[in-house]
Amino acid sequence: MGSHIGRSWVAPGHLEALCPCPLAPCGYVDRDNVDPECTQHPVNRFKTIRSGHAEADCPGHGAALTEAVGKTELAHRAVIKVAAGKVVDFLDMYDALDAYRAAVEHEAAERIREETRHAKTMGVLEPDKFRPCRDAADQIDPEMTE
Ligand SMILES: [Zn+2]
Ligand SMILES: [Zn+2]
Repeated sequence: MGSHIGRSWVAPGHLEALCPCPLAPCGYVDRDNVDPECTQHPVNRFKTIRSGHAEADCPGHGAALTEAVGKTELAHRAVIKVAAGKVVDFLDMYDALDAYRAAVEHEAAERIREETRHAKTMGVLEPDKFRPCRDAADQIDPEMTE
């Protein structure tokens, strides 16, 4: 029986999003489907695996949120890179900050959407109750509506 693994404490994170391993539907990495080039997940890297679940317990959703977390991390690194430059081009700084804001907002909206997917999977989805949440997510992140 396979398992889906992550290096963060409670959920898949940017280490899963930004490594070369394919993501499982939940956003973790399938232990039996790692990329040998990955420095994080192959068993011979001897890295601590802090979270995950058996394949049989996979919720089947969450990869979109993991990808959003990865984009936020990259946008954050881009801001730091521009800020650390000796000669700061302010247009680059504005672009980097705009990209960071967009990534954070997308991640926030994806967290709301993920919560509604989770509720649906658990069979507790009350459409009237969740509609305002979905509407809020779509207003935060209008281009990513399903
Ligand atoms: Zn990996
Ligand atoms: Zn899984």
